[in-house]
Amino acid sequence: MSVLIVGSTALDSIKTPKAENPRLLGGSASYAAVAASFFGPVKLVGVVGKDFPKRYIQLYKRHRIDLRGLQMLPGKTFHWSGEYEANMNNRRTLKTELGVFEKFTPTLPAAYQATPFVLLANIAPALQHHVLDQMRRPRFVVADTMDLWLKVALPDLLRLLKKRLDGFVLNDSEAQQLTGEGNVFVALKEIHRLGPKYVVVKQGSHGSILSGPHGLFLCPAYPLVKVVDPTGAGDSFVGGMMGYLAAAKGPVDGHLRRAMIYGSVIASFCCEGFGVQRTTRVSRAQIDGRVKELERLTRF
Ligand code: AMP
Repeated sequence: MSVLIVGSTALDSIKTPKAENPRLLGGSASYAAVAASFFGPVKLVGVVGKDFPKRYIQLYKRHRIDLRGLQMLPGKTFHWSGEYEANMNNRRTLKTELGVFEKFTPTLPAAYQATPFVLLANIAPALQHHVLDQMRRPRFVVADTMDLWLKVALPDLLRLLKKRLDGFVLNDSEAQQLTGEGNVFVALKEIHRLGPKYVVVKQGSHGSILSGPHGLFLCPAYPLVKVVDPTGAGDSFVGGMMGYLAAAKGPVDGHLRRAMIYGSVIASFCCEGFGVQRTTRVSRAQIDGRVKELERLTRF
């Protein structure tokens, strides 16, 4: 089955203590779509400007990503730039230039409207609503978010959480920001009260936690000795997870844990290169290899 992914499609300029890379392919939807593409068909919804390099369109195509929902409008592509501190964890946003994003209304092609799996990757919650308004009875809907929306669009986000999602994914600092609760296990309970059946809290290099009707699952991060650029790791995680779920047969419940492990492994590859440079060169066999390693590392 296929997965529909809406989110930002961007050009990212990323600075680390070791290197600087301007105008890489970025955006939450780009990372998530590349990650999900390892498992099955992906339908992308987003917007780019006329300055969007052709080689990035080719890159999407090499991953067999359906681009009928990618609008190209006059104007500039969304541009984000950020700088990492020496620890490669703390990041400062230097600039966010919205460009064509400012007037973006995601309109779904008819062929997208019955897609069973929907990933509302990080984007304004009003746009996430707009996509769901056009869908016909999706089977499993997951949303991601960021600190900005908790600050400037909380009512929209709460409305999304209340009835429209099966799963909600956020990172630990966002969980604290949303609930005012520093203990992640208490925060998970509070977030369930806001609506979603499944909640996943991402903890960067410490892995992630799933909470659902069958209790908790602690998903490890793959142990990396060298992180080149962690941008998009969270988006790759959730993209990989949704891609795996869409490809699996039978009820989602039975596959969620393994889906998170796959997401975690693809996120680890993402961190080993700038932008999607490493992820796009990885094979399914290499992904499966790291999944097996994680299995060995956590079995007792
Ligand atoms: P992450 O490292 O998971 O926080 O994701 C980084 C990606 O988020 C980058 O590729 C950015 O282009 C994208 N991004 C940054 N700010 C925003 C925003 N306000 N809305 C949507 N996407 C954004």
